[in-house]
Amino acid sequence: MSINIPRGTQDILPGTIEKWQYIEQVAKELCEQYQYKEIRTPMFEHTELFERGVGDTTDIVQKEMYSFQDRGERSLTLRPEGTAGVVRSFVQHKMFGQANQPVKLYYNGPMFRYERPQAGRYRQFVQFGVEAIGSDDPSIDAEVISLAMELYKRLGLKELKLVLNSLGDTESRIAHKEALIAHFKPRINEFCSDCQTRLTKNPLRILDCKKDRDHELIANAPSLADYLNEESSAYFKKLQHYLSLMGIDYELDPNLVRGLDYYNHTAFEIMSSSEGFGAITTLCGGGRYNGLSEDLGGPSAPGIGFALSIERLLSALEAEKIELPITQSLDCYFVAMGDEAKDKVVQLTYQARQQGLRADMDTLNRKMKAQFKTADRLQAKYVAVLGDNELTEGSIVVKNMNEGTQESIKIEKLMAYLKQV
Ligand code: ATP
Ligand code: MG
Repeated sequence: MSINIPRGTQDILPGTIEKWQYIEQVAKELCEQYQYKEIRTPMFEHTELFERGVGDTTDIVQKEMYSFQDRGERSLTLRPEGTAGVVRSFVQHKMFGQANQPVKLYYNGPMFRYERPQAGRYRQFVQFGVEAIGSDDPSIDAEVISLAMELYKRLGLKELKLVLNSLGDTESRIAHKEALIAHFKPRINEFCSDCQTRLTKNPLRILDCKKDRDHELIANAPSLADYLNEESSAYFKKLQHYLSLMGIDYELDPNLVRGLDYYNHTAFEIMSSSEGFGAITTLCGGGRYNGLSEDLGGPSAPGIGFALSIERLLSALEAEKIELPITQSLDCYFVAMGDEAKDKVVQLTYQARQQGLRADMDTLNRKMKAQFKTADRLQAKYVAVLGDNELTEGSIVVKNMNEGTQESIKIEKLMAYLKQV
């Protein structure tokens, strides 16, 4: 019996991988322009990092983590998201002491969550994300949001919706929390068991419950917007001011609560408003997490970031019918006729590659016609043909496949010729 891939994972094969590479390249260039540096943290961390860093009232920690005991009986977890690991690394390497502040980082790599697989929802998926740690000025919030928007725009997406909310500071949240408890408590038995636990631990998360989202008490729950203190309100207004200066449109949604526990002030999501998009329309989520560094044993260090998955980005491109400008043509395909010619072609193909050209040749000893067919399939710009006649003359025939012309060139001049055309 053959063995298949685990549920919720996928193989990304040649033909599709080019899209991933293209997106990764655009993201990398964008981060360079914005001065975000790449960080690579381990694929697994101590389970406790996520319990503390993501929060034990979240779906992620309660039911989505791939946790296991290693042979030393430590509990480890395949990372379900990137922020906790990045902030752990920030604290561990004392990046708060670096000359350049804030510390601006980006990552791009696989995340793991035990979810019910469906369109746009995988058990292994790739997140690209950024974190800016060390500033609590709303201009950095605007910068982070603009970076995410710019990535989508550069890839050609047009039907985007940016949704903003403010979760306020600790003081605002305590006031709101009390109002939420008073609101839900009398009828909490109508809610799922998770929400009943959330009521005391983190009632804000009830608003984000996927089971109880249609309950009437959710629609008329006390809105955070009414509980923001003056400072939080001013912060949120300033962010909106900066976004307006950049010409970035947004909508406000007082019920937007992010999936993770550690957010305060800014929370945002970017959605696809494309008609062709399925039920899950969120492409990107992010927000501010001023207490996380301290929660992980570091100094106070305010941070903001976002994460987006490449899988949902690809779905959005598909929904808007956008073709990425991917070219993968071959510079030269070498065709050999006869054993002696093959010797020479082995050498020439190697030389062409050393010269930085994209070159290929037949390795199945096929007939000339089949070799030409391959050259066509590989979209070779030039095909260089070597047979007995050419060998005795010390020359090679070079066909320009776009123009249908051909000329005979001295073998020793071939590399210079190919590089020039
Ligand atoms: P959702 O409500 O869809 O479960 P989330 O709140 O769990 O989202 P985040 O943890 O904020 O999502 O992750 C940020 C982004 O990563 C999401 O906006 C989405 O684009 C992507 N993402 C999250 N989970 C998955 C998954 N299982 N498969 C593919 N992409 C995902
Ligand atoms: Mg989720």
